[in-house]
Amino acid sequence: MKHNFGAGPGILPHEVLKQSAEGVLNFNGTGLSILEISHRSPEFEAVLDEAVALVKELLEVPEGYSVLFLQGGASTQFALAPYNLLPEGGKAAYVESGVWANKALKEAKFFGQVEVVATSKPTNFNYIPKDFTIPEDAAYIHITSNNTIYGTQLQQFFKSPIPVVCDMSSDIFSRKFDVADFGLIYAGAQKNMGPAGVTLVVVKNDILGKTGRAIPAMFNYQVQIEGGSMYNTPPCFAIYVAMLTLRWLKAKGGVAGIELENIAKAKALYTEIDRNPLFKGVSAIEDRSHMNVTFVVENPEHEKPFLKYCDEKGIVGIKGHRSVGGFRASIYNALPITSVHVLIDAMQEFEEKYK
Ligand SMILES: *Cc1c(COP(=O)(O)O)cnc(C)c1O
Repeated sequence: MKHNFGAGPGILPHEVLKQSAEGVLNFNGTGLSILEISHRSPEFEAVLDEAVALVKELLEVPEGYSVLFLQGGASTQFALAPYNLLPEGGKAAYVESGVWANKALKEAKFFGQVEVVATSKPTNFNYIPKDFTIPEDAAYIHITSNNTIYGTQLQQFFKSPIPVVCDMSSDIFSRKFDVADFGLIYAGAQKNMGPAGVTLVVVKNDILGKTGRAIPAMFNYQVQIEGGSMYNTPPCFAIYVAMLTLRWLKAKGGVAGIELENIAKAKALYTEIDRNPLFKGVSAIEDRSHMNVTFVVENPEHEKPFLKYCDEKGIVGIKGHRSVGGFRASIYNALPITSVHVLIDAMQEFEEKYK
């Protein structure tokens, strides 16, 4: 058995994989594959409706918000957010807490002025800047809730006089938060809610339609809302697998239930990183992510042997991102705590051998 610590596409629950495989061969007893039924069929419409309902239920989405399943990944939302929210000649505020945030703000520059209100770039994004004032004349402020590459996570969201736009790609459904604090939330599914190919968007309806700009249909949130995420053929299979994953999450006690597990997993792993003299954490302690745990070896010569050691134990996907180095253990919702203990045991055995 493998212990999948990959950063993305990330681990999915085994039972969801089994159900998905069944759906490919014979979807709900129809004798047809989920891959070959019409997206306008009642069978698929039921899948999409359930997916939307589960998002609303699990995130407790208030009235006045729409839930969309779109394509193009989070990277497309980097552009669609300013396309739909930033008026001609207007300004948007960005917190630059990592490379994804940087890519997001670069896209916004195609549509208007960008004010970077805070950045942690000089220290290679090892913390989340929190000391900034929100410019009230900006159309919105954009933040990244979890910086997948660096292993930092904003622990406390804030109230804002202007809409908050948040990239939640790598921690959506991992912890409780209040949707009402946000104007727009988006997340590529492939980290914590399903397979690659679908992107979740939760948008507050009354922030739309204020740019004075004509927006092509596929890029226009209002058109996608009116089309119920079916302006064109949606990514049916990806939505199906995401729906199954959300069903699995609901059965596990929903977001509140999984949050407790995520806290326990993160605590166990950080405790070992702090205790073990061969390893050390990378990100600021108060910003440590509960989804992506980054760490390095004190002695660079231990890096390769530790990777090899992990490989022999079936631990995969823990090599760090090239811009940080070392290791990154992604401990998304679907990763069982038993896998975290396998990694901790490996670190302890490695210590015995190499200290
Ligand atoms: C992975 C990731 C992205 C990029 O997502 P795509 O769906 O590949 O475009 C953006 N932001 C964050 C925080 C991510 O983790």
